[in-house]
Amino acid sequence: MSIKSTNPFTLEILKSFDEMTNEQIDHALEKAHTAYLNWRTTSYQERATILNKVGTILRSKKAELSKLITLEMGKLLAQAESEIDYAASIFEYYAKHGETFLKDEKIEVDSGEAYIKKTPIGVLLGVEPWNFPFYQVARFAAPNIMIGNTIVLKHASIVPQCAKAIEDIFKEAGAPEGVYTNLFVRGSKVTKLIADKRIQGASLTGSEKAGSELAMMAGKYIKKSVLELGGSDPFIVLEDADIERTVSLAIKGRTVNNGQSCIAAKRFIVMEKIASEFLTQFKVAMSKLKLGNPLEADTELGPLSSEDALESILKQIETAVSEGAKIEIGGKRAKLKGAFIEPTIISHISPKMKIYKEELFGPVASFYIVKTVEEAIALANDTEFGLGGSVFTKDIEKGKEIAHQIDSGMVFINHPTKSSVELPFGGTKRSGYGREMSPLGIDEFVNKKLIRVL
Ligand code: NDP
Repeated sequence: MSIKSTNPFTLEILKSFDEMTNEQIDHALEKAHTAYLNWRTTSYQERATILNKVGTILRSKKAELSKLITLEMGKLLAQAESEIDYAASIFEYYAKHGETFLKDEKIEVDSGEAYIKKTPIGVLLGVEPWNFPFYQVARFAAPNIMIGNTIVLKHASIVPQCAKAIEDIFKEAGAPEGVYTNLFVRGSKVTKLIADKRIQGASLTGSEKAGSELAMMAGKYIKKSVLELGGSDPFIVLEDADIERTVSLAIKGRTVNNGQSCIAAKRFIVMEKIASEFLTQFKVAMSKLKLGNPLEADTELGPLSSEDALESILKQIETAVSEGAKIEIGGKRAKLKGAFIEPTIISHISPKMKIYKEELFGPVASFYIVKTVEEAIALANDTEFGLGGSVFTKDIEKGKEIAHQIDSGMVFINHPTKSSVELPFGGTKRSGYGREMSPLGIDEFVNKKLIRVL
């Protein structure tokens, strides 16, 4: 079966790629392993040079690459351009700081000498999603290539052109063959690659189902894994918050990437005293969003990544309504040709409803009213996810106190959770484990080897 690139705005098939045969996959793994044996002996300087070149090429091809992202998965063009810059900055960050992050760590001992030496472990399998096709790959590939590991990358099947473009950029940057290899394989087949002796670890960003299947295999074969899965981030608004600013950030937080981000604000938890005012402004602002062609500069909301994604979120909404939830605005397929959903706000959600527990991957906000801060925290934590979260208040100390009580990997005060290369990114509970970005992101797939001199 071929891997198809489809434009979610026009629904037209742009290109098809053949899935790799078992022999081709074996050849790719052999190349990656052979490359590793040499790559691990190269200097940090040599690796940094390649990463910097990747960054430079990304920036020089920004126009064409961002258009490719938009055509394949529907992201607004301006956001696609920012993604390319951001991906470039991740390669540059690890090129610049990698050596420092990986330097030997001395341990105080009574006699002789002891230190931890960070060494690479081998070929790593990356399984990445379509929602940020360049950024997701950058945050996995950059630190690991800097360590001296090599990468085989299975990208989401709906962004094959982006997947191919990234491999080509590594080639153009002069990366030796096998340092970064794209695998055209379907998700259902990829976890079995973990059994292969040449693969030493795996990282996946995507759904809980895919993450759990990958982790099961990694557990069986005793290989390190990192999982960055879904989220249902709370967005808590206290009584003293500046409503206008908070509503505008609520819109941004819920609709970034057409609503398809793991750290998008998804559950809006607002104190009763200001709930009505907040909801009124939130509805007006959501309803005003201009849907349309993601390539056009005045479009504010593009299509979802695929017809499948649209069907799945419409089904979630339909079930919620049948269980008694109220649609404040939207809730239907938008009257446009592509995979569009109307911006949606849902209220009157109770813990018995399916939607209470699920992640909503699209511009669909769940709205909750609470009477006390304690109730807000309890609701924020009443989820199996634990990725990000945010609290809005003028009282920063109170915001921090609340942040400390939220069970998630990241909490932002007065801004929806966002990613930044110098900050660790990752979750807890069923949002996964491990961290990407920052100095922590280079520490996942290293052998922290003790050297003891007596
Ligand atoms: P998937 O988890 O299916 O896709 C993410 C990646 O995992 C893709 O490369 C996919 O490959 C691969 N994959 C799929 N099944 C398996 C498997 N059994 N074992 C190993 N890898 C697998 O996500 P979807 O794109 O289907 O989106 C479904 C939901 O997942 C979303 O609605 C959202 O809730 C969540 N999600 C979260 C993301 C995040 O940023 N945390 C990103 C994307 C999705 P292939 O494309 O070939 O199926």
